[in-house]
Amino acid sequence: MNRTYEKSKELFERANTLIPGGVNSPVRAFKAVGGNPLFISHGLGAKIYDVDGNEYVDYVLSWGPLICGHAHPAVVNAIKEAAERGTSYGAPTAGEIELAQLITEIYPSIEKVRLVNSGTEATMSAIRVARAFAKRDGVIKFEGCYHGHADGLLSKAGSGATTLGIPTSPGVPASYAEKTITAPFNNMEVIKNIIEKDWKDIACVIVEPVVGNSGCVLPLAGFLEGLRDLTARYGILLIFDEVMTGFRVAYGGAQAAFKISPDMTCLGKVIGGGVPVGAYGGKKDIMSLVAPEGPVYQAGTLSGNPIAVAAGIATLKILGEAGVYESLEEKAAFLEEGLRDAAKKAGAKTKFYRAGTMFCQYFNENEVIDYDTALKSDTKAFGKFFRALLERGVYIAPSQFEAGFLSIAHTRPKLEKTIEAAYDALKTL
Ligand SMILES: *Cc1c(COP(=O)(O)O)cnc(C)c1O
Repeated sequence: MNRTYEKSKELFERANTLIPGGVNSPVRAFKAVGGNPLFISHGLGAKIYDVDGNEYVDYVLSWGPLICGHAHPAVVNAIKEAAERGTSYGAPTAGEIELAQLITEIYPSIEKVRLVNSGTEATMSAIRVARAFAKRDGVIKFEGCYHGHADGLLSKAGSGATTLGIPTSPGVPASYAEKTITAPFNNMEVIKNIIEKDWKDIACVIVEPVVGNSGCVLPLAGFLEGLRDLTARYGILLIFDEVMTGFRVAYGGAQAAFKISPDMTCLGKVIGGGVPVGAYGGKKDIMSLVAPEGPVYQAGTLSGNPIAVAAGIATLKILGEAGVYESLEEKAAFLEEGLRDAAKKAGAKTKFYRAGTMFCQYFNENEVIDYDTALKSDTKAFGKFFRALLERGVYIAPSQFEAGFLSIAHTRPKLEKTIEAAYDALKTL
C-alpha cells in the first residue's frame, strides 16, 4: 500500500496533449473507474510493473492475448529469431503455412484461413465474404457483443463503447448501420422472429459465443444450437467471433466446448501471442471467394507478418502441450471458488461467471444473461472495487463490462494473494 502514481500521472498529462484522450484504445483511459491510467514499464509472467515501480498481478493480459503470460521465454525467442531474419517481406513464408495448419487442425470448422492484422480486420473481412457468398447484405449481431470497430458493427457494441456510454458511434453513415440488425443475446424468440420475417435480406449472424465484451455472459442451454439450426435452415451463414473465446473457453474455442460447427470463424488475440494478428476462415467453398482465388478483395501489407506468425506459433505450441488446459482449468476453478467465497464472506452482492480462462464478477444482484441485465450492474461499486484492488497489487480491467483472463503463469500463491486482496477490497465497499 501507500503506492504513488506520480510518474504515470505525468506521462498521462503529456500523452493527453498528443494522443486523443491520452491513449491509443479507449478503455485504457480508466474513464469508468476514475483516476489516471497506469503507464507500464514491463511485464513478466503473471505480473506487470508500472513506471512508478508498483507491481501487480495482471488479469488483463493485454485484453486476452497473453495466455502464456508476459515475456514467455519461448515466445520472446521466437520473436527474436524471426526479427533477426528480417521483419517483413510482403511475400509468403513457410511460417504462415505452419500457423494456418495449426489453426485448421485445432478448429476443424476452419478449412481455409486468411491471416490479417487484428480482430477488427478479421470480422470486417469475414462479413464481406459472407455477404458475397450469401448474395445478401443484412447482418445480425447481438447487443453487447463487440466485433471490432468496423462501421456497421458498432451498433450496440459492448466493450469500450458500452463502458464510455457510446454504444452506437457517430461517424457511421446511417446507410451502413441500416444493414445491421441487433438482437438480444440468449433470446431465441426475438432472433427467430427476425429471421423468419427477413431471411431473404440476411447474409449472416455474427456472435461472440460467450460474450466477453459485456463481461462474461454465458449462452443459455440451447441458444447456440438454436442459432445453428435456424441459420442453416434459411441459408444464413453463422459466424463465430472467437477473437476472445478462441483458446480461452477451450483449446478449440467455444465451438469445441459447445460442439457447434459455425460456417466461419474469426480469431485474434491469443493466436498472435501478444503481437498484432487476426484470422478469419471457414468452409472451403466460402473461403474460396477470397482474392486471388475468388473475387472478394481483402489484402494487407503486413498480413502474415513473420514476427507475429512466429509469436503465434510459439504460443499455440505451448498451449498444445499435454496437461496445459487441465492445469489452466484447475487454476481458473480455484480462483472462481476463492472469489465467490470472498464475496460471500464480505457480504458483497456479486455474480460470478466463467468460461475456461475468461471470467467476470458483476456487482449485480440478479443473474446476467444479456446486455440489459449486464447494464444493471453497480458500476460505482465496481469502480471502488477496482481502485481497492489496484492499491493491493491486483490489476483487473478498468471496466465492469470486460472479462478477466488467466495465464499459465498465474501460480497458486498469486491466485491466493488475489483472493485475499479481493476479500479486503470487497470489505471496503
Ligand atoms: C478484441 C475483439 C475484437 C477486436 O479485435 P482487435 O484486435 O482489437 O481489432 C473483435 N471481436 C472480439 C470478440 C474481441 O474480443
